[in-house]
Amino acid sequence: MAYSYEAPVSQTLFDRASLVTPGGVNSPVRAFRAVGGTPRFMVSGTGPYLTDADGREYVDLVCSWGPMILGHAHPEVVAAVQDAVARGTSFGTPGEGEVALAEEIVARVEPVEQVRLVSSGTEATMSAIRLARGFTGRAKVVKFAGCYHGHVDALLAAAGSGVATFGLPDTPGVTGAQAGDTIVLPYNDLEAVRAAFAAHPGEIACVITEASPGNMGVVPPLDGFNAGLKEICAAGGALYISDEVMTGFRTSKAGWYGIDGVRPDLMTFGKVMGGGFPAAAFGGRADVMAHLAPAGPVYQAGTLSGNPVATAAGLAQLRLLDDAAYAKVDAVSAELRSLVGDAFTKEGVAHTVSAASNMFSVFFTDEPVRDYEGAKKQEAFRFTAFFHSMLEQGVYLPPSAFESWFVSTAHDERALERVAAALPAAARAASEATA
Ligand code: PLP
Repeated sequence: MAYSYEAPVSQTLFDRASLVTPGGVNSPVRAFRAVGGTPRFMVSGTGPYLTDADGREYVDLVCSWGPMILGHAHPEVVAAVQDAVARGTSFGTPGEGEVALAEEIVARVEPVEQVRLVSSGTEATMSAIRLARGFTGRAKVVKFAGCYHGHVDALLAAAGSGVATFGLPDTPGVTGAQAGDTIVLPYNDLEAVRAAFAAHPGEIACVITEASPGNMGVVPPLDGFNAGLKEICAAGGALYISDEVMTGFRTSKAGWYGIDGVRPDLMTFGKVMGGGFPAAAFGGRADVMAHLAPAGPVYQAGTLSGNPVATAAGLAQLRLLDDAAYAKVDAVSAELRSLVGDAFTKEGVAHTVSAASNMFSVFFTDEPVRDYEGAKKQEAFRFTAFFHSMLEQGVYLPPSAFESWFVSTAHDERALERVAAALPAAARAASEATA
């Protein structure tokens, strides 16, 4: 596909990056491999906008893959960070900021009685499954195809996000021993979960699921799916782990738990709770968390865990996320979904706008998508044409048909008008695209 627009400074930076960093990026989903072209190197962000190294401004519909729910450089978050930085950046001791952030999480998400702070969502899920194994004395972990829980060895099998974007079957470097205790099942299929428990009695430590998946595109749980998982886990002596790294504090004040009310044994968080800094967490039942060192024998640690700058940013962001803020993000998402759906309908493009609260994505199929197999059946080549037309017109989308779009409280009418103005040509490009 030829692109009619140029990004010379980004191209030069990408050339330099490619010499010193594999693939030129520090996280695969940032590369434009699935859609072609040169990744944009961003130099600044304000509210709903990003500016690249060539001086072009974009309406940002990625929001750093979720965290920037108040938009970029929110003045109160910036002030909290500046205040924290001025007092020192890392102490390697306990500090009040981490207590306050843990209290905020515990207050918002009722099943979380105790929480441990870490630095990435990957660390959170890795530690949660170690804790589940330590607590139950069992080895096996059930996960669902298309769900992504970070690049944890045992959880990379049939994963979503970049693994889905690049169609990677399995990841070299993960040994049979590391993946051998992972059971991968189709999403939204409770019968498959029951069958797995029947086939492995007393062996399954936990079921881990995205609370509402956003890493194979947005594929919400069918009614009763999460409740069914919880019930099967309870009956089988396994822990139910809800991964809310993406949905946590984004889909509601209490994340997806605030929407479906199904009580997990353990939960994982990241993204929004860090306010754009590396902060994440796992938590849940106090009797389970009590097995964690130094209270208990399951080891877990981190030099920068509970970092004072990251916790200050996260706390400032969470404190601004009141009911009005969620109402705003939900309204922006609803307006965008309707604009996007109308544009495709007008051009006769088969599509489904799939939403879970304010997270959404477009599948280029009119068949309902309920699992990873369904997501893969879409005409993803149409996304490539759509993506580049939007980019050329100054709208930054995730560079993959298998990722959620994210909006913020800062997406105002001006930003939405710019997206609306770009959609007709982009929808036309999608309709004219060929495989
Ligand atoms: N879990 C989910 C649901 C995610 O979406 C992600 C990242 O996108 C992770 C875990 C991993 O988080 P991190 O990228 O911070 O390691």
